[in-house]
Parts: sequence; C-alpha cells; structure tokens
Amino acid sequence: MSKALELFDAYLENLIESGKCVPTDSESILCPLCLNTIRRIDVEEGRVSLEHIVPQHATVQRQQKARETQLGNKTTRSGVTLTCADCNQKKGRELDWIMRDLIGPGPREEADYPRRAGVAILIYAYLLAFSTHGYEYILAPGLETIREQFREPDRDVSEWLQHARVDREGRQPIVATEHGGPSVVRIGGDGPLEVFFWRFRSLLPPVGSVIHPVRIPASLTDTTQWEG
Ligand SMILES: [Zn+2]
Repeated sequence: MSKALELFDAYLENLIESGKCVPTDSESILCPLCLNTIRRIDVEEGRVSLEHIVPQHATVQRQQKARETQLGNKTTRSGVTLTCADCNQKKGRELDWIMRDLIGPGPREEADYPRRAGVAILIYAYLLAFSTHGYEYILAPGLETIREQFREPDRDVSEWLQHARVDREGRQPIVATEHGGPSVVRIGGDGPLEVFFWRFRSLLPPVGSVIHPVRIPASLTDTTQWEG
C-alpha cells in the first residue's frame, strides 16, 4: 500500500472517531484546507498524492549541498499530509513558489520575507498540526479563519497571521529545527499550539480537548514529532 493510501486510511479513521462531519460513505475524507471531499479512489488512482507540507523544491533540490540537509530523508524534512488536487495546486502556485529561496540554511533578513511568506508559514503550521491532531482540532471553532486566510492570501483575515513570521526580535527561539529535521508540534497547556519547522515558528489556536489524535502510520511516524 502506498504511503498516501496509508495516510488516507489513518485520516478516515480519525474523521470517524472525531464524530464530526462524517461522510455518508466510508470512502472519502475532508481536505484540511477547503473541507471538500477527497475520495479514496482519487488517491488510489494518483489524482491525489502526498502533500509535502514544506515544499520539496526547498527541502531537497536547492539546499542539497548543505551538509545538514543531507540528514534524514525528504519526507521527514517536509512533513506530509493529504490535500485535494485544487488546494495542492493553489498552495504550490500561491505559497510554495514564494518560499523557494526562504527555507534552509543561510542568514535571512526580515525584509527578505514578503507578506505572503507569513501566510505560507501559517498554512504550513496548520497542516503540520492537522497531521498530528486531525479533524477534531481543525474543525474546532477558531480554525476556520486560517482556512479563509488560505483562500484569500492577500487580505489580513486571521489574527494568527501575526504569529507566523520569523521572529527577529529574539523574544522566542526563532529556529527550532535549523538542521531541517522533523517539525515539532508542541502543546502548551491551555495556551496556543506552537509549531516549529525549519527556521520558523508559528502559533495556532489552543488544542483544547482534542482526544482523538491521528494514528500516524508507522512508515510516516518520523515526519512530525509531538511534544505534550
Ligand atoms: Zn482542498
């Protein structure tokens, strides 16, 4: 079975356990970005494939010469999930392209990051949080503004956008996974969720009472770490 299908089945199980928005058939899940359905057959027949959350063009090709990025594998460094074909294309076109030179080793200035980079960081953090905390988390109140921010990347929609930039003022650790290792999703009690990946840190709405995290397939457990 492909990793994409393994992930599909894990999300389907998570969606049913969450008790929310369960599809009438057992052959589809919801895209975490638009909440439209992703059918199992679309994954089986390759119309939907693994979504590398942090774009592969940044994590594989462009930084390949840097010793630290040769560690681990590309899936570990990117984090993976499933999105529908439309959202996959929109993310690639409107966010991943912006980030092509802004991920990986090397110094950057705040001015190097255009406004849309903040949207990209927020959306990557959201998808990384989905990959561990599943539907119960993203379908909770307060998360819809992040999906709306994805729909309209050039408008200030979500209050969480302000927490999704590289922190240049040193108040917080600005780089948690400089080596390009797995992303880390950290639950801070009742406080916001913290997500660290590459040189970025983003805050997201608190997890609250999520009791059904995703049972990540064994072949993909190294993609996102979860610290309670
Ligand atoms: Zn979608």
